This record gives sequence, C-alpha cells and structure tokens, in this order.
Amino acid sequence: MVPDYDAAGRGRPVGELIGAEFSMWRYRFLLPIPDGRPVHPLESGYGVGGTPLVDAPRLAAEFGVGRLWVKDEGRNPTASLKDRASALVVAAAARAGQEVVCTASSGNAAAALAGCCAAAGIRCVVFVPGDTAPAKIRQLLAYGAQVFAVRDGYEAAVRLSYQAADHFGWLCRSTAYNPLTAEGKKTAALEIVEQLGFRAPSVVLVPAGDGNILTGLYRGFVDAMRLGWTQDVPRLVAVQSAQSPALHRAWRLGLDDVEPHDASSIAESINVAVPQDGFRALRVLRETGGDVLSVPDSALGTAVRRLAQGSGVFAEPSAAITLAGLGELRERRALTGDDEVVLVSTGSGLKHAAPGAPDDPKVIMVDADLMAVERAMRVTEAGR
Ligand SMILES: *Cc1c(COP(=O)(O)O)cnc(C)c1O
Repeated sequence: MVPDYDAAGRGRPVGELIGAEFSMWRYRFLLPIPDGRPVHPLESGYGVGGTPLVDAPRLAAEFGVGRLWVKDEGRNPTASLKDRASALVVAAAARAGQEVVCTASSGNAAAALAGCCAAAGIRCVVFVPGDTAPAKIRQLLAYGAQVFAVRDGYEAAVRLSYQAADHFGWLCRSTAYNPLTAEGKKTAALEIVEQLGFRAPSVVLVPAGDGNILTGLYRGFVDAMRLGWTQDVPRLVAVQSAQSPALHRAWRLGLDDVEPHDASSIAESINVAVPQDGFRALRVLRETGGDVLSVPDSALGTAVRRLAQGSGVFAEPSAAITLAGLGELRERRALTGDDEVVLVSTGSGLKHAAPGAPDDPKVIMVDADLMAVERAMRVTEAGR
C-alpha cells in the first residue's frame, strides 16, 4: 500500500495537498480510500485527529532533554488514538455499502469503532475481554453497539471476531488483521511532523501491545520523509509493561517474530499475550534504531500523576507508561540535551478512572466554610 509519492504530490507546496480542517482527513491524499463523497459527518466535523501537541518544558528539564511534547490522543472523539483507525475503516465500509462492522478490542478500539459507526449510521458489534473497565463498556452501550464480553480474554475475543465476521459477512476491524488500521494511525505521525513545522523529532515513545500503533506511526514518518517534508525518521521506542512483555522479550532475545507470553498487566490497553502486529513492529523498531523498554505496573500510578502534573495531560496508565519509559532511557544515559522527544499519549485517563468518590487521603472533606479551607491550606503548605 505504498503511495506513489510523485503522484501524491512530492515537491508540491504543502498548502495545495493538505485539507483545511485540522483532522486526520487533512492527509486524505495519503490514505487508501476510494474517492467519492466524504461520509458525513465522520469525515468532516466529527473531529478525529487534529489533536494537540502539548509542549512540556518542565518535564523536558526534569528529564534532561532539549524539548519534550505530549501528543494528546485522548482528545479524540472517543478519547483514544484508536479513532484514527476506526474512522478509516468505517469510511471504507460506508463507501462499500457494508451494513455491519465488528471488532475485538481491549476497550478503546471498540469504543472508537462504536463511536465512528454511530457518526456514520452503521451497525457495530464488539467483542471485549470479560475484565474490560466498566466505564469503557458503558461508553460502548451508549453508542448503541452490540457488546459481547468474552470470558476467556482478549485472544479469544480476537478469534471470535474473525469467525463471526466470516460467518455473518461483517467487515472486521480487528487490529492488524485489517490493514487500514495502521494506515489510519499513521496520520498521528503526519500531524506531529506538521505541528513541529515540518520536522521530525529525534525520539518518539509509544506504548505497545499489539504493536500496530508503532507500525502505523512509522508509515506516517516514512510518508513525510518521502514527500520531502522531513530529513529522517525518528527513533521509535516501544514501552511495554513488565507484566505483558511479549514484544520486549522478542527484542531482548533478538527474535524475528514475537512468541506468545503471559499477560497480566493492569494497563489493559497494552495487556496482550499474542501481539497481532509483532513481526512488523520488531522490524520497524530495528529500522529506526529504536528500542523496546519494559516498565513494572507498580510504576504506572506515579507515571499518570507525573505526566498530568508536568504537562496537563491526564492519560490512562497504558499511555502514561511512556513517561516511565523516558525515565528508563534517562537512567540508561540514552538521551542527550539535544534530543527532541515526543510521548504519544494514546488514551485519556477519564475512562480508566473508577466511578464513585475517590477515598484518597489527599482529598480534604470540608463544610462550605472559608475558614476550614484556610486552616487546611496552612496544614498542607506546612507539610510541603
Ligand atoms: C491500543 C492502545 C495501545 C497499544 O496499541 P497497539 O497497537 O496494540 O500496540 C496503547 N495505548 C492505548 C490507550 C491503546 O488504546
């Protein structure tokens, strides 16, 4: 699916190529969908992509790098980077007259498919692991998706989605199985390049489960280089949980392909025993001179708070893991003061937050009484 870059517009002014709306459809000329009338409102106004690249100078100083940005993919309409993949799949499905699209998902891909299907008026069926966060399931139901919670977990849900698609004649969006997923995700890389003024950063940290985001971002960075927008492709660094380390293990052992490995991470979006795009992800990581890191689940709570307090971006643990990965790179002395780093914050923390009032000791219960606030402030300031 390599575009013809001369036909696509190499050498032509950027302004003639990209669309006016700051969304993923701005790069329509690089996406493999047939021409024709855009699916309304999915392809205009629904706002997939076009997410902010948040400058985080305090975090940059803390980690000793030149610049640091957070690509906040939690601002997509269903609150994760998965919207880019689902939007492209649904746009293609609608053009082909497909009535039902299904997917297996650890939660976010399902939400993205359900939301994009709702925007386009197409039916959606999802297969999620039985232990999916309740907030994510409520989101699916709100969009009107038919939800199957598969008791045996993610891999079983993936198999079931293939079988059901085959049996019922549905289009299957499941990650990596559908080649459009990586194509949609590449638009995040194109945006990063554009937001930096048509330059590539030096290092991009990406959380990895199936490895499909890595593959997609790589394609976007390669597209940008072949169009003459950038000089090179950044080092891609995958970050995994030590409790779901299939890709990390294959990397460490120098394997060409990933072998299944037990997965029991609390970071459910990257808790994958059998990475569906592991082979391509390993190749992409090697080609960019990248790396694979593993971080224990016990570091994720701190990573979420540090990212939120250092940048204003509230990410789910599977996304904030990139900040823990940055700490690991610093410890290995693999960063310099010249590095320009992007953390891809793949999904919002709001969905992950448990319902109900937090019983955190930092929360101070008061009456509606200014004096009580003053007293409490004195105590907390003293404790700082
Ligand atoms: C899906 C997802 C990932 C992992 O992407 P892969 O393509 O499976 O590697 C990371 N973070 C979030 C929030 C996700 O939803």
